[in-house]
Amino acid sequence: MDLKINKIDNNIFEIKEDKNMNVPVRIYANENLIEKMKNDKTLIQGKNVASLPGIYKYSIVMPDGHEGYGFPVGGVAAFDINEGIISPGGIGYDINCGVRLIKTNLTYNEIKAKLKELVEEIFKNVPAGVGETGKIILSTGQFKDSIEEGLDWSYREGYAWKEDLDYIESNGKLKEASIDYISDLAIRRGLDQLGTLGSGNHFLEIQVIEKIFNQEIAKILGLENDQVMIMIHTGSRGFGHQIASDYIELGLNKYKDTIDRLPDRELIYLPFQSEEGQKYLKSMSAAANFAWNNRQLITYQIRRSFEKVYNHSAEDIGLNILYDVAHNIAKIEKYDNKKLIVHRKGATRAFPAGSEELVSKYNKIGQPVLIPGSMGTGSYILVANQNSVDLSFASSAHGAGRNLSRSSARKKFRYDDIINNLNKKGIIVKSTTKEGIIEEVPEAYKDIDEVVKVIDSLNISNIVARLRPIAVIKG
Ligand code: 5GP
Ligand code: MN
Ligand code: MN
Repeated sequence: MDLKINKIDNNIFEIKEDKNMNVPVRIYANENLIEKMKNDKTLIQGKNVASLPGIYKYSIVMPDGHEGYGFPVGGVAAFDINEGIISPGGIGYDINCGVRLIKTNLTYNEIKAKLKELVEEIFKNVPAGVGETGKIILSTGQFKDSIEEGLDWSYREGYAWKEDLDYIESNGKLKEASIDYISDLAIRRGLDQLGTLGSGNHFLEIQVIEKIFNQEIAKILGLENDQVMIMIHTGSRGFGHQIASDYIELGLNKYKDTIDRLPDRELIYLPFQSEEGQKYLKSMSAAANFAWNNRQLITYQIRRSFEKVYNHSAEDIGLNILYDVAHNIAKIEKYDNKKLIVHRKGATRAFPAGSEELVSKYNKIGQPVLIPGSMGTGSYILVANQNSVDLSFASSAHGAGRNLSRSSARKKFRYDDIINNLNKKGIIVKSTTKEGIIEEVPEAYKDIDEVVKVIDSLNISNIVARLRPIAVIKG
C-alpha cells in the first residue's frame, strides 16, 4: 500500500483522514525511525486502527512503533465509551506486561564483589522460562481474591510494603476486575504462575545510573550517579494470554459480519457497551491485577535475595519501588471532557504533574516514565510532561522497539558472540535458553537514545537519567 505521510512539524508526521478512516494517524518519530516503520506493517496498522468505530482524535504511533497483532506495538488509540469499542488485540496478548524499577542505596562498587552471587540467588528465587511455575500455588479461592484485589492482596499476604502501593500505576489495582467471566483454562494456567518471569522479551536486570540529565528532578526521585537499580519486565503470563485468546476467539465467532468489513481480521473488537465488551473489560482488569501481583512477588523475592547476599534488611538497603508502569492495557480516562477507553499497546502511561492519582511527591513533578532499551545498551527514566495530554492521551514510548524480527535475529547472530560482547562490556548474563538471548540481541532493537530523544523533544516526557546494565536475567 502506498501511504501518503505528511510531515507537519519536527518529529510529528500525519496520514490524513481518507474515506475509510474516522481520524488521521499521528506518528511521533524522526526521519530515520519513520523509515524503519515503512519496512513492516506498522503504519498500515496505524491506518487500520483509524477506521474503527468511535475512535477519537487520532490513531497514534509512538517512535518505538513496530508491527503487532492487529494494532501496532507502540500504538495508542482512545474510543468513545458510548459509540466506541474495546479490542483484545489492541491491548495485546500479554495484558499488563509492564516495567517496575526498584531503587537501592548501594553503588556499583559496593555490590560488585558479590554481584555474581546475587544474580545466582535471584535466578534461584524467581523462576524464568516458558510455562515455569512459581514458589506459591494458590487455591481457586485465594486466586479469586488476588486477581480481584490486586496489590491490596499482596499487601495483606505480606508480600508488599504499605508504601509500595503508592508507587505503582493505579496503585496496582483495577477495581473493575472480576473472575466471573474468565475460563477455567485461564484460571488453571494462572494458579501457579505468580512470581515468575516468563520467557523471551521479559527480563530482570541490575543496572547502574550512568548519567543524570536533570539534577533537580533526580534529587526528588532519590537518584544519584552510580546508584544500583533493579528493573523487572514481565506481565500476566499464561493467565493473561489465555484471556486474550478466549476473547479474540469469542469476537471472531460472534461478530462474523463485522470481521468481513474490517481491513484485517486481527482488528476484531467488542462494542464497549455490549455484554461481551464489559465481560472482557472485567477479565482484562483481572489479568492486569494478576500482573501487578506477579511483579510484586518478584519484588518480594528480590528483597529476600539482597538480604541473604548482603546481610542487611531490604529496608536498610533501600529497596523501594521508584515506579511500575503497564505496557498493554485499556483504561477509562477523561480528555477534552469526554470519557474515553484509552488503549495503550506497547505504550506507557505518562500522567503529568497535578494528576490526581499520583502520590504527592510525583504530583509535583509528573509520573516517572520507564523506558528500557536492550540488555546491551541502556534504559531511561523520564518524567511525564503536560504536553503528553494533548499529543498522546498522556502516553509515552515503552521501549526501543524491535528493529529485526525474532527469526531474522536467529539467522544473523550467534549465541557465543553475543555473550562475549556482553561480557566484554562487563554485563553478566543468565538465561534459561540460548534462543532467548539470540532473539533479544541488542541489535534486534532500535536505538533507544533516538527514541527517547523524540519523546523528550516533543515534551511528552523529559529525560532524567540513563541506566546501563550490569547483569541481566532472561527467560
Ligand atoms: P515489549 O514490552 O514490547 O516486549 O518490550 C519493551 C522494550 O523492552 C523493548 O522495546 C526493548 O527496547 C526493551 N528490552 C527488551 N529486552 C530487554 C533487555 O533485556 N533489557 C533492557 N534493558 N531492555 C530490553
Ligand atoms: Mn510481555
Ligand atoms: Mn512489555
